[in-house]
Amino acid sequence: MKVKFYGTRGSVPTPDPEYFYFGGNTSCVQVTFSTNRVLILDAGTGIRNLGNDLLRDGHEQYDMLNILLSHTHWDHIQGFPYFEPAYDTRRNITISICGKQRMGNDLESLFATQMQNDFFPVALEKMGANFTFWQPDVTTYVHPRGIKVTAVKYSHRGDAYGYRIEEDGKTLVYCTDVEHKNGIDPNVVELSRNADLLIHDAQYTPEELKKKKGWGHSSFNQAIEVADLAGVKNLALFHHDPEHNDTFLLKMERECRKLFPNVFVARERCEVDL
Ligand SMILES: [Zn+2]
Ligand SMILES: [Zn+2]
Repeated sequence: MKVKFYGTRGSVPTPDPEYFYFGGNTSCVQVTFSTNRVLILDAGTGIRNLGNDLLRDGHEQYDMLNILLSHTHWDHIQGFPYFEPAYDTRRNITISICGKQRMGNDLESLFATQMQNDFFPVALEKMGANFTFWQPDVTTYVHPRGIKVTAVKYSHRGDAYGYRIEEDGKTLVYCTDVEHKNGIDPNVVELSRNADLLIHDAQYTPEELKKKKGWGHSSFNQAIEVADLAGVKNLALFHHDPEHNDTFLLKMERECRKLFPNVFVARERCEVDL
C-alpha cells in the first residue's frame, strides 16, 4: 500500500509563499493498493492535483473510483468540482462515507448543493461521470479484492469518521477532524492499534487547543498520545492550521520528534510506502 498526500491543510487553503513547503491545499490523500488501484480519502482542494496526476499517468480505473470522505465540511469536499476525472463520461465514481449512525443530509444532495448555480457554474449531473453515492451503515466492510475498511465515528461538529484500511498485512489509519473530548477517545486508539501509518489531526498546539474547545480538532500532543497508546509505527501530523506556516511547522516537527521519533508533519506530494 502506498500513501500520497495531496492536501494536508485544515479549514481553508493557504496559497501563500510561506506555506509552500508543507502545502496550502486542504485534505486529500491518495491510497494506492498492490493492484495499482486507487482510493481517495477526502476531496479537499488537493484533489485537483490528484485528478490531474491520474490523467497524466493514464491511470485507467474506469469501473469504480472511490472517494471516501471523513465528513462533508467544506475543506473536505471543496476540491471536488475541480476533479477532472469527474468530467469523463467513461468513469464511474463512488462518493462514500462509511460508518454507523450518520445523522447528516444525504451525500448526493450535499454534493449537488455545492454545485448549484449560486455556488458553481456546472451542475453535478452535467459533469459527465456516472456517480454513485454510498453510505453503508456498517463498522466494517471487506472489499472483494481483499481490502478491509473499519470505520469509527468520533467527536466533531456534524459527523466525522476515521478509517482503518488494511491490505496484505499493512495498515493505514486516517483520523482527521477529531476532537478528544474527555481524554483520548479509546475508540480512536483501538482503530489505530499497531498501524503502520497513522494520519492524525494535529491542528493545534496544546495552548491553542485550550482556546479552541468545540472547534473539533486535536493538538499535536494528543496525536502523539494516540500513536503511543496504539503502538503505531509511524505518525503523520495532518490538517495543519491555516495560521501555521512552514517555519512554525518545521519547529513543531522538531519538538514532536523528541516525544515520538517516527513522526513527521504531512507535506503535500510526500509519498509513504507501507
Ligand atoms: Zn477539516
Ligand atoms: Zn471538519
